[in-house]
Amino acid sequence: MNQRTHSWIAIRAIALLADEGEEEDLVTLLKPLAREASVGAWIPDQADAKRGGAGAATENHIFKIEPYTGQQRERFITRKDELLGRLGAHSMTARFLQDDNSLDSGWWATPYRGDVPKPGKHLPNRAMALSTMMKDLLLMGNKTIDHLIPGDIRFAQYMIPETRTQEEAAAMYFFMLSHFVADACMPCHCDGRKLSLYDEGLHKEMEKHWSRKVGTGFEKKKLLPEDLLADWERIGDDSDEILQQARNVDGKFDLHFEQTRVPDLNPGQDVWLAVLNQCRASFAVASIIAPYRQYPYDDPDARAPFDTVLDTGDKKLLKDVNRFVMYDAVLNTAIIWKHIWNKVSKE
Ligand SMILES: [Zn+2]
Repeated sequence: MNQRTHSWIAIRAIALLADEGEEEDLVTLLKPLAREASVGAWIPDQADAKRGGAGAATENHIFKIEPYTGQQRERFITRKDELLGRLGAHSMTARFLQDDNSLDSGWWATPYRGDVPKPGKHLPNRAMALSTMMKDLLLMGNKTIDHLIPGDIRFAQYMIPETRTQEEAAAMYFFMLSHFVADACMPCHCDGRKLSLYDEGLHKEMEKHWSRKVGTGFEKKKLLPEDLLADWERIGDDSDEILQQARNVDGKFDLHFEQTRVPDLNPGQDVWLAVLNQCRASFAVASIIAPYRQYPYDDPDARAPFDTVLDTGDKKLLKDVNRFVMYDAVLNTAIIWKHIWNKVSKE
């Protein structure tokens, strides 16, 4: 997803939590900072840091899945029922896969494995690492954060106010995490075929299509205008409007969140497993969008243009994909945020 879509997903997740009315303290932290923190939602894709040479850019984050031919076959097989169970009843991707017949039992009995060229880039690892660190950083929050989290820390006496986590930084970390969670919902992001690479048509076109639907209201220059960045205090709190603007996008994706309760993370799962399972489901979706028989995993020349596989005919598949990808990106973000918040404030 690109900048606008990532910003919208994170802000929409705040609205979802606010509408649920359960995680009030977390909403109190994030809502007034929706604009300021929005930079975090897209910063993980920025590779233009000019500091200290090649290693200075923000680290990439991928999890490209493909058929596995190594020795540990069983370990990399995830049967359909198993995956749907892991995704949980709230998952719209799961419901879509449930109804699908194009991936047969042979497909589901095949081992698939995520390929990551460098360990640090592994998408579920990045989400897990950030969420673990966030729990620690939230425990050492400044006065505003401290006020929202019960109990106290014994080493507080050794911390000067400046070493504590500022609420603006904390909110931005939540938004950064939303980026990784949302990327796991993007089918091309989890598909190892060349046809799913960003510059090979399908991936970029799908993201452009979503970005147009999200609209210019979530463009970074609108959320973070230059003149206001220079004098941030002047803007005041207009977060009610920003959240409403995010809800207003729902219709573009045919989303209906009215009855949606933000569930807990599935029992027995952590952030790593939740993101991994979503990646696995997104790979299955990619194999439906660009059918794997027609566009084989081992064919480096196969391309599946957006207007051939999605933006065609009655566009039923496109509309389905739009709906469940966005729904799960928003809901999974809210689920994982809530999980982290509960860890530091309740459990
Ligand atoms: Zn990304």
